[in-house]
Amino acid sequence: MDKIKMTTPLVEMDGDEMTRIVWQQIKDIVITPFVDLKSEYYDLGLVHRNETDDQVTIDAANRTKELGVAVKCATITPNAQRMTEYNLKEMWKSPNGTIRAMLDGTVFRAPILVKGITPFVSCWKKPITIARHAYGDVYKNSEIRVDGAAKAELVVTYPDGREDRKTIFEFADSGVIQGIHNTDKSIEAFARSCFNYALDIKQDLWFATKDTISKTYDHRFKDIFAEIYEAEYKEKFEAAGITYFYTLIDDAVARIMRSEGGILWACKNYDGDVMSDMLASSCGSLAMMTSVLVSPDGVYEYEAAHGTVTRHYYKYLKGEATSTNPMATLFAWSGALRKRGQLDSIDELVAFADKLEKASIETIEEGTITGDLKNLIKVPNKNVVNTEDFLKAIAAKLAQ
Ligand code: NAP
Ligand code: MG
Repeated sequence: MDKIKMTTPLVEMDGDEMTRIVWQQIKDIVITPFVDLKSEYYDLGLVHRNETDDQVTIDAANRTKELGVAVKCATITPNAQRMTEYNLKEMWKSPNGTIRAMLDGTVFRAPILVKGITPFVSCWKKPITIARHAYGDVYKNSEIRVDGAAKAELVVTYPDGREDRKTIFEFADSGVIQGIHNTDKSIEAFARSCFNYALDIKQDLWFATKDTISKTYDHRFKDIFAEIYEAEYKEKFEAAGITYFYTLIDDAVARIMRSEGGILWACKNYDGDVMSDMLASSCGSLAMMTSVLVSPDGVYEYEAAHGTVTRHYYKYLKGEATSTNPMATLFAWSGALRKRGQLDSIDELVAFADKLEKASIETIEEGTITGDLKNLIKVPNKNVVNTEDFLKAIAAKLAQ
């Protein structure tokens, strides 16, 4: 059989622990037997990040900007315990955070729906994709504990000496205050990423804030989305037959719970944090979620939504067979290959990505599953297998 040829390489970012093992298995079992894989390899495993003073993460992100499509394995974000475990020179930053900041991107997450795993929200028939704004708000706050009677003020000082000042509260006794911010630039990038992605997946885009209460802060988000939509996307949306819909966050939540899905839901940072956990738990597990970072100028980085599955890795090191679910990582690969195929006009590669996803979904629907799905899925003949056998079952389907 002739393997499918690629023209432009993918940026391949390897990672850590169990997902690093699964990464190699996916390549060996379901990708390279069918595709003449072209990739530029960057080892983002913690050992190599430490050796390169994390330069490898920066190099990988820069190359992604040039080539346009990357696929990333889950990576360890170091904490105190990892410092000793890996004998680290420094507590390196989260690679996802570094890459997100460099690409100025937005993360889009959607569940992988299979028959037999019904969402707890029974009206959801199609996947809901959540786009979370990944900058600012409460995640970059400044807080003060007020420990007695005090006047709290908001002060903005401009370089020319101009000042803007407002009273937050006159405390009679102790309490707390918090200052948060966002920038027009970041909100604009977020808006463009969402509009582009909606066009990409041809789904309606919803956006919601609390602008009735937050008449300046949240209203700025609403205005920026509206201005960019009118100026740059309205015609494209009409041509694609999709709509942009703005509403209040509480109304959006109520509507989502009654919808049949198939919507791209843009969320402010905090809303996205909370709502993506709700979506993931309603639809099964993080191992059944796709995740892609999209920059406003159309650079794509596909990844899994879960971590490096440390507990399974320690079992693997002891020689025990593990049944880690490779679906999220496999969909990162299929997503990246499809996008590469679309950008380079290689229909065969796009078709391969579709077939790979279809074969993996069918494998699960026929009952061949990894351990995490055992109590989640309702199918007549459950056959719980290890990761390798699960991938081999998919490969057998693909070969047909
Ligand atoms: P995790 O790796 O997502 O795993 C948490 C638990 O969820 C696992 O122990 C396992 O449960 C289950 N699980 C997750 N993915 C699974 C899969 N594919 N198949 C089967 N079960 C799966 O989260 P964590 O243990 O909190 O974090 C481990 C490391 O990952 C940390 O060092 C963290 O920094 C890193 N991390 C990386 C990313 C990323 O790169 N995107 C994201 C999050 C965390 P059972 O043990 O019950 O089987
Ligand atoms: Mg969360």
